[in-house]
Amino acid sequence: MPRIHRPAAAALAAAALLAGCGKSGSPPVKGPRADALPSYRVQRGFTLPASATWSAAHRRGRLVIGVKDDQPYLGEKDPATGTYSGFDIEIAKMTAASLGFAAGQIRYQAIASANRETSLSNGQIDYYVGTYTINALRKKQVGFAGPYYLAGQGLLVRRDEHDINGPQDLKGHKVCSAAGSSSIQRIEADYPDATPVSYDTYSVCVDNLLTYQVDAVTTDDSILLGYAAKAPDQMKVVGKPFSKEPYGIGLAKGDRALRAALDDAITAHERNGDWKKAYDATLGLSGVPAPAPPPVDRY
Ligand code: GLU
Repeated sequence: MPRIHRPAAAALAAAALLAGCGKSGSPPVKGPRADALPSYRVQRGFTLPASATWSAAHRRGRLVIGVKDDQPYLGEKDPATGTYSGFDIEIAKMTAASLGFAAGQIRYQAIASANRETSLSNGQIDYYVGTYTINALRKKQVGFAGPYYLAGQGLLVRRDEHDINGPQDLKGHKVCSAAGSSSIQRIEADYPDATPVSYDTYSVCVDNLLTYQVDAVTTDDSILLGYAAKAPDQMKVVGKPFSKEPYGIGLAKGDRALRAALDDAITAHERNGDWKKAYDATLGLSGVPAPAPPPVDRY
């Protein structure tokens, strides 16, 4: 039998992984079990007239929430059913419930990292929940509720990679990340000997890793652990987190009323146990037990 060329075998595996179906006998990519997810009490009669965003959503009868659709356990769309699942999706649902919107009144819109600020400032989405790091530069353009989770930047490599164990080992290596992310910016600023490569999404980076086009993928550990958990024979997360990425809910900069209401919602769902239940049923499946949520920063 002819020996299969390694990169070709990896390409097949990548295609199977990304198509979400088990060509080689692996189970299909599934979201969290629906019965393990908490349901959130919808605050009927809630009003927020001081928020232009909330008022417009109330009139139209639904919220438009920007998310990611290719990040396992965080924000992932099932291609067969169109259903979204993951920790960010749960944060979207629980905050929507506090604002008076049931899960069926949410329309999710997938927005890539590079397009978040524009889609918030031009009103294309009402708010954004998708591994979105709060930082000073972004705060010039958008508002942030939260943080609701603290991640850290990490590295994902092929299972048989032994030379890359941290960002200091990236010299001369191609490292892939999403355009417009804090991850690619940190590599460019702090690790000038690495060769950064960027695409719209991390799943394209993972595809490139498995087909030997790049040597590592870098972004938040929360995202990388999800990809690794779905294909542990092919990839691993290495080293220690080398940044702090507090996740916020992005919203239009001027809408202070909505920001305060979202901060209240996050705090309430952390206190009543919803946050932990949601974590355990989603991001917790990638192997890290629930941490304590970071304190909400009301600026
Ligand atoms: N949290 C980082 C960021 O906001 C990386 C993940 C992402 O691109 O969503 O840029």
